Amino acid sequence: MNLALWLERAGLSHGDRPALGCGARVFRRYGEVAGRAARLAASLRQKFGLQPGDRVAIAAKNCPDYVELMFGIWHAGLAAVPANAKLHGRELGYILQHSGARVCFASDGLDTEIAPHAPPTLERLITIGGREYETLFAADPAAAWRCRGDDLAWLFYTSGTTGRPKGAMLTHRMLAAASFAYATEVDAIAPGNPLLHAAPMSHGSGLYMMAHVARRGVNVVPESSAFEAEEVLGLFDAWPGTSMFAAPTMVKRLVECPAQCDPAHIRTIIWGGAPMYVADALDAIERFGPRFAQIYGQGESPMTITTLSKQEIANRDHPRWADRLASAGRSYACVEVIVADAEDRALPTGETGEVLCRGDVVMPGYWANPEASAATLRGGWLHTGDVGAFDAEGYLTLKDRSKDVIISGGSNIYPREVEEILLEHARVREVSVIGRPDPDWGEVVVAYVVGEADRNELDAMCLNGIARFKRPKDYVFVSALPKNNYGKILKTELRELDAKNRQNA
Ligand code: AMP
Repeated sequence: MNLALWLERAGLSHGDRPALGCGARVFRRYGEVAGRAARLAASLRQKFGLQPGDRVAIAAKNCPDYVELMFGIWHAGLAAVPANAKLHGRELGYILQHSGARVCFASDGLDTEIAPHAPPTLERLITIGGREYETLFAADPAAAWRCRGDDLAWLFYTSGTTGRPKGAMLTHRMLAAASFAYATEVDAIAPGNPLLHAAPMSHGSGLYMMAHVARRGVNVVPESSAFEAEEVLGLFDAWPGTSMFAAPTMVKRLVECPAQCDPAHIRTIIWGGAPMYVADALDAIERFGPRFAQIYGQGESPMTITTLSKQEIANRDHPRWADRLASAGRSYACVEVIVADAEDRALPTGETGEVLCRGDVVMPGYWANPEASAATLRGGWLHTGDVGAFDAEGYLTLKDRSKDVIISGGSNIYPREVEEILLEHARVREVSVIGRPDPDWGEVVVAYVVGEADRNELDAMCLNGIARFKRPKDYVFVSALPKNNYGKILKTELRELDAKNRQNA
């Protein structure tokens, strides 16, 4: 089964229907996109001599061409390596070298950044939209390569909040299963429904592209390559019935944006990829209405570990609504999820441990990294590194990454619990809680706060809401928190910064 067949099918039966949007306008229709993908495939195989299984990288900002590139690569039986456009040229060079990509398609501007770092294995660096690019669509269309479900489709380089990024191998079968999971459990797609790619297509947002092609939705890309809240609100009005994947920081920016839109034009905003704090979730629902769903996943089980549906988030009358809103939802039907102890034994309901999962959406391993693959997939379970607990109804509450848990005086403290409390303060915009090494306690709790709150008030809120020993011993007020390109707070960097500040103090 080749994912490319989904586009071919839509091109044959509904060639005149919109497939791609750019800003507020229709950019290309299904017949044209399917034809371009088949022509690109012919050029990649015949002109460039690429062989099935070879890797082709895409280092691009969001653009409508992303869709024809991904499907053209699959059509030719090749594997795509989408890389985050905000990475440094050196980091992109690492991904190109590690994946062994023979060809890289890059956005105008990124090409020159990559060039000095291109490894010898890279044979061609092609600028998307450039002259050479357009010649690739002049070939006669190729027939779609008949690949197996286990063949590599997407090398998904993890965002790398620590260390070098690893390439999770995503196969055609996995991506098909993840697409079905989306359409059945997150957001039903009717033909013509738009999906707005305001988050990077190299990551979560791009993973929803295939389901929308399968259902003949419209993949819409904003004109500006960076996330512009005002533009996004305008696009909701331009494309009624839009769904969108958004990291919690993006949702926050939409909520705070003074521009207006008709919330009825939003079908679903799916948040995930990082914790959504309850205070922020409530603000989002207040502004846009109950139009949100949540997903929890990671590159290794792409977007598919647990989900909290739009109906569950909307159902305020449910006696356990507030608890559910604070959770990451229930496991998807396509994956088995447990919370386990250090020996991978499933823990009873309510107990906290590492989240493990297995199923057809879980990667077979990391590319060219047998040690990391064996460690992460030991015993047949994906070890997510996330800590959480199930309730009696099967809702998973995530606490933190295991490496972020603070151990103070022998007690485990989950930063997220403290963060949730501090964020209830009206003048706290963002917060991140870390452990600081301490000779007496092992670690002490330190809160980095963006906002102007008074520390006594914050202390009082903690004393009111959580156990005394979890209260921060120190508050550090900052103008911004270190984040990676996907908006995730980098706790490792924050800990380093904290250590440096202490040395200099
Ligand atoms: P990545 O592989 O870069 O997408 O990062 C995945 C990690 O992001 C997960 O292992 C979690 O730590 C975190 N994450 C993803 N979704 C959620 C969510 N809904 N709530 C809390 N954390 C999340």
